[in-house]
Amino acid sequence: MNRPVEQVRNRLPQRARELAGNAARRLRDAFPGRGTLKVEAPFTGEAIGEIPIAIAEDVAAAIARARRAQAEWAARPLLQRAAALLRFHDLVLNHRDEILDLMQIETGKARRDAVEEIVDIAITARYYAYHGPRLLRPRRRRGLIPLLTRVTELRHPIGVVGIIAPWNYPLTLAVGDALPALLAGNAIVLKPAEATSLTASFAVDLLMRSGLPAGLVEIVSGRGELTGAALVEAADAICFSGSTAVGRQIAARAGARLVHASLELGGKNPMIVLADADFERTIDGAVRAAFTNAGQLCIAIERLYVEAALYDRFLDAFAARTRALKIAADFSYDTEIGSLIGAEQLAKVVAHVDDARAKGARVVVGGRARADLGPYFYEPTILTGVKPGMLACNEETFGPVVAVASFQNVEEAIRLANASEYGLSASIWSRDSARAHAIAARLNTGTVNINEAYSAAWSAVDAPMGGMKASGLGRRHGREGLYRFTESQTVAEQRLLPLTALPGQPFAQFVRMMTAALRLIRRIPGLR
Ligand code: NAD
Repeated sequence: MNRPVEQVRNRLPQRARELAGNAARRLRDAFPGRGTLKVEAPFTGEAIGEIPIAIAEDVAAAIARARRAQAEWAARPLLQRAAALLRFHDLVLNHRDEILDLMQIETGKARRDAVEEIVDIAITARYYAYHGPRLLRPRRRRGLIPLLTRVTELRHPIGVVGIIAPWNYPLTLAVGDALPALLAGNAIVLKPAEATSLTASFAVDLLMRSGLPAGLVEIVSGRGELTGAALVEAADAICFSGSTAVGRQIAARAGARLVHASLELGGKNPMIVLADADFERTIDGAVRAAFTNAGQLCIAIERLYVEAALYDRFLDAFAARTRALKIAADFSYDTEIGSLIGAEQLAKVVAHVDDARAKGARVVVGGRARADLGPYFYEPTILTGVKPGMLACNEETFGPVVAVASFQNVEEAIRLANASEYGLSASIWSRDSARAHAIAARLNTGTVNINEAYSAAWSAVDAPMGGMKASGLGRRHGREGLYRFTESQTVAEQRLLPLTALPGQPFAQFVRMMTAALRLIRRIPGLR
């Protein structure tokens, strides 16, 4: 069933290799003579291209080009900007299979995980194209006294937004946030993750083909601490998705520069299973929650709490389903678990599981690297008996590892779920909707899915998505996800009477009038 590495190597689609080669060439042409980083195909560990390391000077030049294009772009009517998003939507769907090949080549993820990114980008582009213009139009707001003050709220673009993206969802996280930023009239300079710059380059190419002015979206590839840091020093706003450690550094620099920074960071997401949950659906949900994208998903579940009455039955069925998952290096939709991204991620997963095992946790399923499938494969793994003091207890593993434990009552479940420095996402399973909603409101996480692993909240792009506590600042999706790329401006025009004493009017009399007016306004519903 599982293909040995040699066979996969021969099967790496020629078309995807060409795509990777073209994307790498485009980046090298943009930054001739710079040092390079090798890009690896995790399925086999072989090099598939080289990307240049853009230095601070290159970043400054990219920002200057983007700034010039931004002025022209912001002057275009909103509906023209929205139309470009819809063309991008269509291009992504038309190029679906090439993008999937490239993403799989660059990340080693399973195709069914990769396809989620195509769907996500289509949903996001459509949403902002159809709903964004309404949110961005000038809005009338209430003045102090009706008719006397006419107040308008305007939304201006910030300028050049620097997007810094991680590798785990190389399409979604490179361009998903760019879409609302562009609609709002901004330019983008994108620093993709080192491992996935080719997918990002392909996506930027499609964006430019959607009718954007030359230079509006620039890509600067390279190392985080060099290229990424240079972008943080120069962009007008930063949109960062990645680890909490780097997010803290970026927040500090953005704070010093007083520029906006939205930060989508790590998680250690809990799932609560109540005894009345629909059993089969919950088992399926738990598998997707823990092992989608081999667990390399910021909203993946790493802590699973099951009500004591259901615990044994749940663990048996969850273990059986996990053991049966199809793990392989291939390009078919049948495969359920792909490779990890690379050596560093594999080492982290191994360290977490080995540490837990050494300190007394039980490995129920998995717990092994699978070099026979590819250099960075790791089996989906279920642990029990994970305790404070183990790496897997509080630290984000970001791999196919989930710790299962039982709880006695809902209070204990809520306490356990909230006992984390992170607060990104959570999942609750129960047939009692009212009870699940009541628990949801008490969880300190930016999103909660009820009877779903993670995608109900993620795909609801009309609603904000992001993290509490160490999981971030700001929100993507919905109106918040658009407004973070704007500066609001309030324009208030005073008419007929000044908001002070009339010429020659004694001030004490003005104060009496004002007091009477305030008493009146407080009582008239339409004026409040
Ligand atoms: P990372 O923080 O190491 O890197 C993310 C990006 O930041 C990369 O492009 C990297 O080159 C760049 N970078 C690194 N150091 C930098 C610096 N000093 N200045 C500027 N840029 C710098 O994260 P990663 O390992 O690529 O991704 C995994 C992490 O991302 C996990 O913690 C995961 O939970 C998190 N993540 C969060 C979300 C979310 O939406 N909340 C989404 C995906 C991933």
